[in-house]
Amino acid sequence: MNYREEIEGILRNSGASKVGFGYLKDVLPSKYKHLKTGISIAFRLSDQVINEIEDQPTHSYFHHYRTVNFRIDQIVLNGVSKLQEWGFLALPIAASQSVNLEGSKYQGIFPHRTVATRSGLGWIGKNACLITEEFGPRIRLGSILTNMEVQYDEPFTSEKCNKCNKCVNLCPALALRGNKWYPGIKREEIVDVQACSEHMSNYYKDIGRGSVCGICIKNCPKGVNVIRR
Ligand code: SF4
Ligand code: SF4
Repeated sequence: MNYREEIEGILRNSGASKVGFGYLKDVLPSKYKHLKTGISIAFRLSDQVINEIEDQPTHSYFHHYRTVNFRIDQIVLNGVSKLQEWGFLALPIAASQSVNLEGSKYQGIFPHRTVATRSGLGWIGKNACLITEEFGPRIRLGSILTNMEVQYDEPFTSEKCNKCNKCVNLCPALALRGNKWYPGIKREEIVDVQACSEHMSNYYKDIGRGSVCGICIKNCPKGVNVIRR
């Protein structure tokens, strides 16, 4: 059986818009080193919902964000079940979960963005989001770590924001530093996560319980060029 083709089919049939496979062993913490294959999935967000964001998030965006996270967790779970059925170990990474790790309360157990860039899904933009060729940053990510070995996709090793600085200039929290991504750059060099989070919690409490914004996603030109009818 071609495990890669099979699992990709299952994830896509469950709703994934993009699927990639990345080699992770050199970047995993020691407790996950045996799960050297990362499977990254991207779920495309609703353009209509994103387009309605102006200078603040919307109720629709907050609901969409949470619904998509739930859907991603289900897609990932479908993949994990199948991998286990085949006899592999598989760890689902929560679509959206912050754990207090290494002094930072703004990260999950392993970054989806690392899995995604290693799996060739896209690069990290100056807005600190994964930017895909097809949908720009208008996606959300899910990940599985597994000990299944497959043929890996070519990782992204450089960014394609080039001279654009739109998200940096529009961020109401002045949280985006304008630095270009490269593999291994610390997230803090791209975004002041605390400033972003505090802005959301101070100004958008009544919209998305202060946990979403979306301005830097809505305005990215890599996302607005998606063909629509
Ligand atoms: S989500 Fe909003 S506050 Fe945070 S970096 Fe993007 S534009 Fe700035
Ligand atoms: S708005 Fe421009 S700088 Fe920001 S992520 Fe998109 S392409 Fe990159």
